[in-house]
Amino acid sequence: MVNIQELIDDAKCYQTIRDMRWLDGVTCPGCSSDSVIKNGRDDTQPHRQRYECRACSQRFDDLTDTIFAGHHQPLRTWIACLYLMGLNLSGLQIAAELDINKDDARAMIQRLRRGIVDRRPPVTLQGEVECDEVDVVAGHKGHPEAVKKKADRRDGGA
Ligand SMILES: [Zn+2]
Repeated sequence: MVNIQELIDDAKCYQTIRDMRWLDGVTCPGCSSDSVIKNGRDDTQPHRQRYECRACSQRFDDLTDTIFAGHHQPLRTWIACLYLMGLNLSGLQIAAELDINKDDARAMIQRLRRGIVDRRPPVTLQGEVECDEVDVVAGHKGHPEAVKKKADRRDGGA
């Protein structure tokens, strides 16, 4: 059996994450400044770009403040999960395809549905709270402009 995760390119996984969270260029998760410089690569994950904010000096990388940071599943497993979600596979089918425990698969699917950026709402938040939905970009391989258009449309129509 072909394992989809073995076909996934790590470099493209990180590019996908950058496209999803920073459509208009990298911004600092601390102060939202776009005055950000590249600051080398992660020691163990060569495709994971590090950055430094020139406004507030915060250092961060592609996965800072995302649901993937500090998680034990490799990024390619998450991307594969996103892709399979786009095919409307069930949690059980996704668990089987990714060769992971069904509870892990279910937890990943739930987190992905809430969006990839891990925004912890302030405790004082009241009333109606909305979460961004995840744009499944895995189905748009090679057509990032299609994803961008979708995001523009959403921003414009809001
Ligand atoms: Zn900053």
